[in-house]
Amino acid sequence: MNVPPDRRERHVRRTKIVATIGPATSDEGTLRELIEAGVNVARLNFSHGTPDEHEAVVRLIRRIAQDMGRSVGILQDLQGPRLRTGTLVRGRPVILVDGDPLVLTTQDWPDGTDEKVWVSHPGLPQDVRPGDRLLIADGVLELEVARSDETDIHTVVVHGGELGERKGINAPNIDVSVVSPTDKDREDLARGVTLGVDHVALSFVRTPEEIEATRDTLRSLGAPQMSIIAKIERAEALENLDAILDVSDGVMLARGDLGVDLGPERVPVIQKAVVHLAAQKRVPVIVATQMLESMIGNRRPTRAEASDVANAVLEGADAVMLSGETSIGAYPVESVETMDRIIREAEWSDEYLEVSRRASAESGSDGQDRKIARAVVSLLADLDATALIVFSPDDQMPRMLSLERPTAPVLAFTDSRALYRRMALLHAVQPQLGVQHDNTDVMLDYMLSEAKERGYIRERDEVVVARLAPHDVDGAPSIISVLRIPQAQLGHRS
Ligand code: PEP
Repeated sequence: MNVPPDRRERHVRRTKIVATIGPATSDEGTLRELIEAGVNVARLNFSHGTPDEHEAVVRLIRRIAQDMGRSVGILQDLQGPRLRTGTLVRGRPVILVDGDPLVLTTQDWPDGTDEKVWVSHPGLPQDVRPGDRLLIADGVLELEVARSDETDIHTVVVHGGELGERKGINAPNIDVSVVSPTDKDREDLARGVTLGVDHVALSFVRTPEEIEATRDTLRSLGAPQMSIIAKIERAEALENLDAILDVSDGVMLARGDLGVDLGPERVPVIQKAVVHLAAQKRVPVIVATQMLESMIGNRRPTRAEASDVANAVLEGADAVMLSGETSIGAYPVESVETMDRIIREAEWSDEYLEVSRRASAESGSDGQDRKIARAVVSLLADLDATALIVFSPDDQMPRMLSLERPTAPVLAFTDSRALYRRMALLHAVQPQLGVQHDNTDVMLDYMLSEAKERGYIRERDEVVVARLAPHDVDGAPSIISVLRIPQAQLGHRS
């Protein structure tokens, strides 16, 4: 596809990159390179690592991002009610053989063997029925429940293999009696609030009530502004998707566990449906897991992986995510650079323009704020403007503008560091830290000169500048200006 060189050179990537930080990327030098390569949001997986390790990473990211003048959000991913096996004798893996019995016990059993291992949820023996299947280690191992008693589940190995320590268990079609957020999640959340993380992801969500409970916890911790991302990775979450979208600030399509729970063959169609419904309901969506999986060990991705990332972009995802590629992989920086290149290529396509156009034409809830956002975005497209420059007292309008899929970057000015970081996840939004001036003309001139200084706009560009107030909050007017940047001096006309 022929894209004019100038357009390519000036293109600001709109789809955001979330990268999981882990042992491969927790040092200062690598974190700096990751951010340089284009990471917008760093994900800390609280299923792994100690709170102190996470705290050290948060502090490093904050310092590096500030040094580099970059807006980098932090997403705390809570473990949720994940079922796990326990430790094993001398820490060595055991071999499970097809047809052999295996007991999963909820009693204290640190020395697991190929006959008996500990399982994390005390209520599980009461939740299972004979004939139920339990899948271990991403579904590599499969057990069938024969019977259970007060503390133990007696199973038969259906598909055997090597069982290591602390492996995840999926229980498809079993109504497991543990809900999100768990006690561990609440403790981790309190730590996250103290550290000032920007978003929290809730694992194994099944109902909207679990999101509401998390919001209550955040309120009681004094952090009602933190955004809650619901991880869609269970069949029950899909059944309740509409209601979950209504109460979440974002969703993550967690294709790893989803693929174990429902079978990998169902993931592609579910992905399209979730991305589409989320776009309709104006909720940001992150597509996650195994996007560039082979780059854990190789410098280059497979063609299928490149297509997977591009397709997520062309379906309309707000962000795409790297997991093992950046947390434990041999090529974390190359993985981010590769993802960045694939996204840009997809965003330069005519098909992408069409996707953006369709997204903003979608019907959905139609409040006053959305009507204003839609009008501004449509003006931007009609004028083929270079940028939309806005100041907004909170992230409500930038979020609305982002979800209307603007055809140019939204330079969202704020004087709040927290907001500056939180907006990093928003599609097409380039958060800008700046001062606020009460006088509207002064503010508009300030934003224009900063946008020019920071390299987003130049002489003769057409730009839309807006000072947007949420419509029903204080009755303050929204002011929208259009101007072509003059050759020598800056100014504006309404
Ligand atoms: C997933 O299952 O795809 C996922 C993102 O969750 P986690 O990495 O926490 O298992």
